[in-house]
Amino acid sequence: MENRVATIFELNQVFNNPGLVLDALGVVEDTVFRNCPKECTHCECKKFETLELVGLSNKPLFYECVACGTLHLKYRRGWVEKQFTKIKGLWTNPNDWEEPNEDSLLN
Ligand SMILES: [Zn+2]
Repeated sequence: MENRVATIFELNQVFNNPGLVLDALGVVEDTVFRNCPKECTHCECKKFETLELVGLSNKPLFYECVACGTLHLKYRRGWVEKQFTKIKGLWTNPNDWEEPNEDSLLN
């Protein structure tokens, strides 16, 4: 299973509320899936990727349906929401990201 990594600093700034950020990301129910769901509860697709959110946890937090993008919680929603206190005040601007120069591409 593929693992995807995403940042939510910007979303978190916009909503300033973990519950609303999870809604916006595509968490539609509170059911916790310790193991990968057999099929998506939204569209019945059987393929998933895991999704990790930078800064919240170094483990994937969701099973993401590859067809419709619905996120299925691997942990209790309340616990995931609590992790948001770690990224309070953090944000990122892609324009600030540095491109490696030619020299650092050679080894
Ligand atoms: Zn789906």
